[in-house]
Amino acid sequence: MQGCTHAPQAVVGRVYRPRKPRASALYQCAARHAPDLRASGRFGRRVEENVIGRFLACGDPQHGFARIYCDQCRYACILAFSCKARYFCPSCHQKRVLAYGEWVEANVLAPVPHRQYVFTLPRLLRPIFARRRTLLGRLCNIVERLFARFYASARPGARPGIILFVQTFGDLVNFNPHIHVLATDGAFDPDGGFAGLPPIPRKLIEPWFGAEVLSLLRREGLVSETLAGRMLAWRHTGFSAHNGVRVRAKDAAGRRRLAQYMLRAPFSLEKMSYDLKSETVIYRSRMHKTLKRNFQIMHGADWLAQLCAHIPDRFEHLVRYAGWYSNRSRGKRTRMEAQPAEVTTREVDAREAARVRSTWARLIHKVYEVDPLECPRCKSPMRVIALIDDKAVIRKILSHLGLWAPQTAAGRGPGPPVTDPPRPAAPILTYHAVPDIA
Ligand SMILES: [Zn+2]
Ligand SMILES: [Zn+2]
Repeated sequence: MQGCTHAPQAVVGRVYRPRKPRASALYQCAARHAPDLRASGRFGRRVEENVIGRFLACGDPQHGFARIYCDQCRYACILAFSCKARYFCPSCHQKRVLAYGEWVEANVLAPVPHRQYVFTLPRLLRPIFARRRTLLGRLCNIVERLFARFYASARPGARPGIILFVQTFGDLVNFNPHIHVLATDGAFDPDGGFAGLPPIPRKLIEPWFGAEVLSLLRREGLVSETLAGRMLAWRHTGFSAHNGVRVRAKDAAGRRRLAQYMLRAPFSLEKMSYDLKSETVIYRSRMHKTLKRNFQIMHGADWLAQLCAHIPDRFEHLVRYAGWYSNRSRGKRTRMEAQPAEVTTREVDAREAARVRSTWARLIHKVYEVDPLECPRCKSPMRVIALIDDKAVIRKILSHLGLWAPQTAAGRGPGPPVTDPPRPAAPILTYHAVPDIA
């Protein structure tokens, strides 16, 4: 909390600022090098430049905020908007990850044993997926078919519940596309009964997965017949499918953690440092098998370009639900369960809203260790009284509070704002619910 001062009507004005966005190594690096990438045409896609622009404005009241107010004690403060950038903004993505764990456990996962499968590709083929991101979805289709096929042969008529997560990164944030699968360790019969089954053996899935992927790339004209044949004949094809991690039926926390792990961001802010003088990033992580080192040193611009490769396209889904967990199956079950209770829509909405509100509050508390909508003075719930995104008004209010400090290029002293991000259609608060991730 800072900037305590008196606002009109004897109401105290403050900024709720749980973190200092401009102080992070990523902010410094992005603010310094985004203009370089733009000038040298290194933003491969429009979405990359857009996301970085939004990230640089995230949590910064100079770019807009909500005014929140306590009816009980007339305490007021402002709450900066967040960027919601997936797989880039550490703060926004982490909120998404935390909320997702809660949401998926409450709404999707059944209390049965689960298993993690990880499907990886040979190094030779990985760059193809960076150039053609739509193939990542096709990769998911292959894995989905594989599960359907093997479970159908093990128990005809039964279906496993599976969630597929695309990850495009390795430990050193290199481009390494792979699929994580959170699958029920068994399958559901049509009547809803669950039958525990042994895991699909790696010896069975790996060759099948490899052959399907190569066949897809051959059909797309991205790999020659000869190369595909040669790769399949290799002793170590590079196609692998790990299946070693299992979570017991009663371990709800374990399921949640696994889902969160699968949705995690490409990189961790704690592992990154940036030296402004030499414009160098050091990233410390786990030992990389091929590079034989546990760190990465890069020029800031190269590092930023590498991070950009992990930003999904605007409507690209990196999480998919299939089998018993498919949106269709879940919708059908929800409708069947809702019928006998005979609750009106209005009642359900109110209850649902209350549940979501309490989930949000809990999550916000987890992230910031404080609830921005709880009055810090009297602990009553506060409410949003205005959303401010007009530049002139922002300046007027922040100047009044003594908080007007427009963004400048990191380390380059005062100057014009580093970036002028596109204004979102609807202003966003620094917290959000997550079901839109599905
Ligand atoms: Zn953000
Ligand atoms: Zn109050």
